[in-house]
Amino acid sequence: MRIAEAAPAKTTSPSRPCGFVPPCLAAAGQSSGSSAGAGGGSRAMAEAAAASRPPPDVDSDECLREGQVAFITGGGSGIGFRIAEIFMRHGCRTVIASRNLQRVVEASKKLVAATGQQCLPLSIDVRQPQTIVAAVDEALREFKQIDILINGAAGNFLCPASALSFNAFKTVIDIDTIGTFNTSKVLFEKYFHDHGGVIVNITATLSYRGQALQVHAGTAKAAIDAMTRHLAVEWGPNNIRVNSLAPGPITGTEGYRRLGGKFAEEASHFNTIPLQRAGNKTEIAHSTLYLASPLSSYVTGTTLVVDGGSWLTSANSFPALLDFWAAGANKNH
Ligand code: NAP
Repeated sequence: MRIAEAAPAKTTSPSRPCGFVPPCLAAAGQSSGSSAGAGGGSRAMAEAAAASRPPPDVDSDECLREGQVAFITGGGSGIGFRIAEIFMRHGCRTVIASRNLQRVVEASKKLVAATGQQCLPLSIDVRQPQTIVAAVDEALREFKQIDILINGAAGNFLCPASALSFNAFKTVIDIDTIGTFNTSKVLFEKYFHDHGGVIVNITATLSYRGQALQVHAGTAKAAIDAMTRHLAVEWGPNNIRVNSLAPGPITGTEGYRRLGGKFAEEASHFNTIPLQRAGNKTEIAHSTLYLASPLSSYVTGTTLVVDGGSWLTSANSFPALLDFWAAGANKNH
């Protein structure tokens, strides 16, 4: 990431929802002012040197373009939408991309109105590399840079392996795993290879204990966590950090609705989670902000679990989930 190693810069972001100094997703174009090991004296000297440098400018009568740019797949809904919002509130411009153009167009209007930042809505299918190439080209025409990639696009539902069709298993692998590779590779070739960047893959904890009725998504997300480590190793020398973020059950999302969140809530199952509740989208967005910002500048190749400790203690009862599935609408896969 181009500014990843810079000391936290002051942002011009109009609103700051968090109670801490915003990490610099804003203020692109600044160069590094101090090293991590610098003592107080050398840091002060570096800051003084930075203060004497001229600020960024352009020769033409065009406005200055400030702020980093994040490309967020699945950014039109749920967790991806909230990531876009929190990033924009921290001075970031965004591209939100998914299959349903109307969905991302409407989401972008809300995001722009709420944050005053730019948001470009684009239609892509992460299973089709040519659609990603076209979207990344358009985003680069518009913003001239892409600093952050959030791979959030995914599909999921409950289904026992015995009832899962070959095609349903393949579809989830195609969207989640192959889609994450496709998008990462396009961004690498078109921008990150030469400029560095940050990739955050949104995964899940499903595979840690073999979650019942989730062989498709658990397998897909485990493969992405492996991909995170491989790409972190290969692309680190290009100044690209690659990490996964694995949410637990998150309220107000399609995942929560489809995977029995409401049922678990009503049956008080979340009482067994160490933090005794489901998480919310803003909590996931804040943790994603950490992984995308210079606060995590020495973090790569890892998975940050953001689940209130859920996977350690939550029930994983095959018979109970089978009953829930048999009684519900999650069939015909
Ligand atoms: P969501 O709103 O359904 O998000 C999924 C997004 O992916 C949608 O915006 C969808 O938009 C997009 N998408 C699906 N297929 C696509 C494709 N082929 N190409 C491009 N975009 C595609 O669900 P969510 O619950 O917020 O989940 C967001 C992420 O968090 C997912 O990666 C999910 O696995 C992960 N997660 C969620 C939870 C949870 O509790 N919600 C827990 C663990 C992990 P279109 O339909 O317009 O394409």
